[in-house]
Amino acid sequence: MPDRSVAELVELDRRHVWHPYGPMPGRREPLVVESASGVRLKLADGSGELVDGMSSWWSAIHGYNHPVLNEAAREQLGRMSHVMFGGLTHEPAVRLAKHLVDMSPEGLEHVFLADSGSVSVEVAVKMCLQYWRSLGRPGKRRLLTWRGGYHGDTWQPMSVCDPEGGMHELWQGVLPRQVFTDPPPAAYEESYAESLRAAIEQHADELAAVIVEPVVQGAGGMRFHSPTYLRVLREACDAHDVLLVFDEIATGFGRTGALFAADHAAVTPDVMCVGKALTGGYLTMAAALCTARVADGISRGEVPVLAHGPTFMGNPLAAAVACASIELLLGQDWLSEVRRVETGLREGLAPAREVPGVKDVRVLGAIGVVQLDRPVDMAAATAASVREGVWLRPFRDLVYTMPPYVTGDEDVARIARAVCAAVREG
Ligand code: PMP
Repeated sequence: MPDRSVAELVELDRRHVWHPYGPMPGRREPLVVESASGVRLKLADGSGELVDGMSSWWSAIHGYNHPVLNEAAREQLGRMSHVMFGGLTHEPAVRLAKHLVDMSPEGLEHVFLADSGSVSVEVAVKMCLQYWRSLGRPGKRRLLTWRGGYHGDTWQPMSVCDPEGGMHELWQGVLPRQVFTDPPPAAYEESYAESLRAAIEQHADELAAVIVEPVVQGAGGMRFHSPTYLRVLREACDAHDVLLVFDEIATGFGRTGALFAADHAAVTPDVMCVGKALTGGYLTMAAALCTARVADGISRGEVPVLAHGPTFMGNPLAAAVACASIELLLGQDWLSEVRRVETGLREGLAPAREVPGVKDVRVLGAIGVVQLDRPVDMAAATAASVREGVWLRPFRDLVYTMPPYVTGDEDVARIARAVCAAVREG
């Protein structure tokens, strides 16, 4: 480690660095990661390595320091790491857009390359509101969503995150006022589907779009639900002139055992957001895809452009790595790998059912969740998982994992053991 000792780094971090959702700087001691390779994070204090049970928040699906992704980055770095995207284009962005259109649900044709998941949701919402303005219906500007959702930390996405007890409760009353329904039950229930249809019909005149996380509500509670609700939404949105947005930022690129969660129901949304695993966790990039209907609608408006153009959109370095990541994923039997991880998690997490206080254990694709009947002691749970040699990030009443797809069977078993230890001790 160059220049500074680990102790100095920790001290400077505590003094100056604000971590995601951290308290004021200085409260917790962060672990310093020196490097990462395969599924392992090497700690700078010499204490060893941790298997990453979080894929760096859903993103590092191929693991770290992957030779193919490294090479793509190196090669693109030698050409051009960035160039403005207004009026100019380049091969990595065009290739990436084509990949995304080819692999995503039929009918999504236009791709806006954003620089983070939250921004791609902002763009998706702008697309929907602008679409209705262009069609002479500016009153359609609210969004309907499920409670318990999470769509990001910028303003519009915050307005559709869980409004109660969620991460953005502080801002209720200041954020745009959206329409919330109960989150869907795990299994299909006709009475719940009926209530969804009724809510969409009731608010149709003011709704620009329904926005949901399909099949898995992630950071808002790690809940799974029947894909049939996606069909219910599609039909109700079509019947009442409302657009449908799927936030696939966490679920995209195979995580749930389908390339996109929408594929479980064979439904095409009007707009779809992707991010996280898009670059295999290497660089910050996300995208909002839309149908020709949405793009044509916008281009017929009084202002016929999508007025969004951050400096780093379409970044060539990120786009080149995203292409390599997608090519790597599609060039292998990714589904077998995800299913293998799924089987390992099912077996390994089964003992958690016997732990007092455990309310539910659920596994879908490469996602494993243990829910307790009380809040987890985050520090104790994290310490237990680190002792087992695994990095996890428990929160609220949940201990959960979404490992890289390349995690070997023994490491999947180790992650499951660490989840069980975190549940027992946290
Ligand atoms: N939507 C979902 C479903 C997410 O899980 C996240 C990230 N946790 C976001 C949006 C926001 O993405 P980002 O953190 O890249 O801004």
